[in-house]
Amino acid sequence: MSARDSDSAAHSEPVRACGACSLCCTVLRVDALGKLGGTNCVHQRPGHPEGGCGVHARRPDVCRAYRCLWQSGSFEAADRPDRLGAVLSLTTEGETPMLFVHEAHRGAYEASPRLQAIAADFRVTLPVRISAAEDVMDPDRPYRVLLPNGEDHLVTGDRITVRRPGAPDQERRMPLLDRSLRGLVLSVRRRYLAFVAAQLRIRQ
Ligand code: SF4
Ligand code: SF4
Repeated sequence: MSARDSDSAAHSEPVRACGACSLCCTVLRVDALGKLGGTNCVHQRPGHPEGGCGVHARRPDVCRAYRCLWQSGSFEAADRPDRLGAVLSLTTEGETPMLFVHEAHRGAYEASPRLQAIAADFRVTLPVRISAAEDVMDPDRPYRVLLPNGEDHLVTGDRITVRRPGAPDQERRMPLLDRSLRGLVLSVRRRYLAFVAAQLRIRQ
């Protein structure tokens, strides 16, 4: 990966300062450091008054380029990701643009009326994918997709529960090809990150 967790890396100047927030350094993946999503970076200083990155001047290019939506000027000033409980960014999955909501912990979306309001605004035009950073290498970890047509898809392993307003839930099985591909991609990613981490240890 050349950018954090496949999110689009914006190269524009940030509109807001991150301050003491360093949530993206926890929830997103950074291949250049062999860091998985959902784990703190070794250089991270959460809540530090001088900023969340201990190697700010020499941080990797992907870190330098990354902007979450809040830092780019979206939402209210009070919605800083570490206070909101999630890092929000626009990205594409295949050809489909999406709002990604990377929860700081599982259940952050359900617990936050503000996150729900933001997602409701976006889902009018874009799918919204909500997932926690925990267990990122588990191909069966649950996530949720809110679609513009009003459907909510709750995905766990190869099971999809489809919820529509005013209709009973429907259970579907994910196409086998989709699940197999996801398992394969995660396996390759795990090996690659282990290789990068080993190289970094050798250089230290
Ligand atoms: S989540 Fe956004 S505001 Fe927080 S450190 Fe990352 S880029 Fe900055
Ligand atoms: S190097 Fe700095 S900016 Fe990059 S993930 Fe680590 S703490 Fe965050």
